[in-house]
Amino acid sequence: MKKVLITGAAGFLGSHLCDRFIREGYHVIGMDNLLTGNMANIEHLFPLPQFEFYYHDITKFVHVPGDLDYILHFASPASPIDYLKMPIQTLKVGALGTHNLLGLAREKKARILVASTSEVYGDPLEHPQSEEYWGNVNPVGPRGVYDEAKRFLEAITMAYHTFHKVDTRIVRIFNTYGPRMRVEDGRVLPAFFSQAIRGEGLTVFGDGSQTRSFCYVDDLVEGIYRLLLSDYTQPVNIGNPAEITIREFADEIMALVGNPKAHIVTRPLPVDDPKVRQPDITRAREVLNWEPKVDRKEGLQRTYEYFKQVVKAD
Ligand code: UDP
Repeated sequence: MKKVLITGAAGFLGSHLCDRFIREGYHVIGMDNLLTGNMANIEHLFPLPQFEFYYHDITKFVHVPGDLDYILHFASPASPIDYLKMPIQTLKVGALGTHNLLGLAREKKARILVASTSEVYGDPLEHPQSEEYWGNVNPVGPRGVYDEAKRFLEAITMAYHTFHKVDTRIVRIFNTYGPRMRVEDGRVLPAFFSQAIRGEGLTVFGDGSQTRSFCYVDDLVEGIYRLLLSDYTQPVNIGNPAEITIREFADEIMALVGNPKAHIVTRPLPVDDPKVRQPDITRAREVLNWEPKVDRKEGLQRTYEYFKQVVKAD
């Protein structure tokens, strides 16, 4: 049985990856320090003999006994309000945590896939964003702690690949959504769903003309699975190119939830909020034969089923 270590296992993406690798017949070691993770996301896996959980902060030395075939590095605060609240931890997990896991991969001769982000493109001056674009990041702005941590993650991963011959993969993840997103994590979809269900104002930041492109979690997990098993070592964008303004997104969620008390309220646009974001997925199509399958209507419906259960309407 192949063994995979997944960091950030109790988080949104980490927990879906645990599920997928269990289904594919792997032995899964989940690791998390629960800074932003939630044990409820993985408690259904605890009875399984092929699942283990280590409560550990990966910015400290990481030890795993025995052999390891794969490492998936998904530990990090991932919401703008999280990294505003925890700037130092965000930098440390991207830098020290990634260093520790690359060291572990080298020691175990394991293949490691690291989670990078569309934030490496910053507030992009090219649209859509292909992997060739170097980005437009403000290193000293409030988002810089996340963006630069992930840019360092890519740099140190390529350095380990080149100098220590570690077998590495880099995925650049664009906005992803689905069940198990934290209700209070401040990102746009949990915010809008919880506000619509409670019949509150949906907090549109700025004039809502900024765009994002939302990928359903199952599609993302499929792309990551294919990338891990491919032999491609350059960064690969995984995301859904279907782009929408935040104002339109609020309208879609209000229409889906159908709570007559829900309405739009506006709030100031956060500093350095990217004005546009859309993945160019040509590389993923060519190298992985991957493209998203779940459209926003279907994905939002599935996600609504989850939020209905975890958000209490007034
Ligand atoms: N946003 C919003 N209302 C909210 C939360 C976010 O209008 O309550 C906007 C935010 O300004 C950004 C977009 O939605 O333009 C996506 O924000 P999110 O925090 O989900 O992730 P980002 O893509 O910025 O990392």
